[in-house]
Amino acid sequence: MRILVTGAAGFLGSHLTDRLLAADHSVFGVDNLSTGSMKNLSHLEREPRFEFLEHDISAPFDSGRVDFVFNFASPASPVDYARLGVETLMVGSEGTKNALDIARKYNAGFLHASTSECYGDPLEHPQTEEYWGHVNPIGPRSVYDEAKRFSEALVMAYHRYYGVDTHMVRIFNTYGPRLQKNDGRIISNFMMQALKGEDLTVYGDGKQTRSFCYVADEIEGILRLSQSEEHLPVNIGNPIEWTAIDCARAVIEVTGSSSKIVHHPLPQDDPTRRQPDISKARRLLGWEPKIDLKTGLELSLDYFRACVETPV
Ligand code: UDP
Repeated sequence: MRILVTGAAGFLGSHLTDRLLAADHSVFGVDNLSTGSMKNLSHLEREPRFEFLEHDISAPFDSGRVDFVFNFASPASPVDYARLGVETLMVGSEGTKNALDIARKYNAGFLHASTSECYGDPLEHPQTEEYWGHVNPIGPRSVYDEAKRFSEALVMAYHRYYGVDTHMVRIFNTYGPRLQKNDGRIISNFMMQALKGEDLTVYGDGKQTRSFCYVADEIEGILRLSQSEEHLPVNIGNPIEWTAIDCARAVIEVTGSSSKIVHHPLPQDDPTRRQPDISKARRLLGWEPKIDLKTGLELSLDYFRACVETPV
C-alpha cells in the first residue's frame, strides 16, 4: 500500500513510518517540523519507498493517491502545546479535516491519533472508551484536549455522513527512543536529569498517576487497530499505573544515578490519575503491552545517553 503519515517526523509518526516500511509499504510523510525532527527520519534518506513533504497540514495539500492515512500531526507534550496553543487547535480542526478529505478523495482507510486527554481529569477510574470525560474547556490544557475532542467528532462525522473507513486510537502516555529530550514530559525530563546527575523534578507531591506504554507496544496496537473493523475509539496504553514519584525512583534505579528527588509546583489542571481500561483492545485486537516500565526505560537508555552527549 501507499500510506500517508501526517506528523511523520514526530516520536510516534517516525516509529510508525519505520514499521510500515518494514512491512513493505511505501510511505508519504508530512510534517511541518514544529515539534518533529528530521533526525527521526535521517536513516531513511536513501529509502526509495519513503517520500517527505515539509508542510503544515492545517493548510490543504495533496499527497496523491494513497490507500491509508495515519493522522498523527499535532504538538503533544504539555510544554509544546502551551507554546503552540493556536497551532494545536488548528491542526486538530483544519488539519484533521484536510487529512480526512484526502482519505475521502482516494477512498482510503483512516486512523486518527486521539488521546487519553479526551478524558481530562477523569472522575471514572480506570478509563473505558464509554467514559465522556471531565475536561476544562478553557484551561491551559484546553488547546490540546478540545482540539483532540473536536477531531474525534469530525472523524465520526466523516464516517457517518461520508462513509469514510475511519478508526480512532486513544493513546495513553507513551515513551521510548526519539522522545524529544526537552519536551518537558515526565520520562524525558527524568531520564535527562538522572543521566546528567541533576535533581529529578517531581511536580506536586508526586502522587498523581500515569500509565506508561513502551513505543513498540503502542505501535503494534495501533497497527492492529488500523486493520480492524472498529470505528469507535479504542484505548491503547499500558494499564500498569505508576505514581510520578515511583516513576522517578524507577528512573534513578535503571540509570544507576545518584540524583535526588526534588518537588516543584504542580501545573494547573494536571490530571490526578490516568489508567486505561484495555479490555476492548484485548477483545477486539488480541493486543496487550508486553514491555514493563523498567524494561522500557532500559531499552531507552542508549537514546537518552546520546541526547546528553549531543548538547544541541
Ligand atoms: N511530571 C513531573 N515532573 C516532570 C514532568 C512531569 O512530576 O518533570 C508529572 C506531571 O505533573 C504529570 C505527569 O508527570 O502529572 C505526566 O506529565 P507529562 O508532561 O509527561 O504528560 P501528561 O500526562 O500530563 O500529558
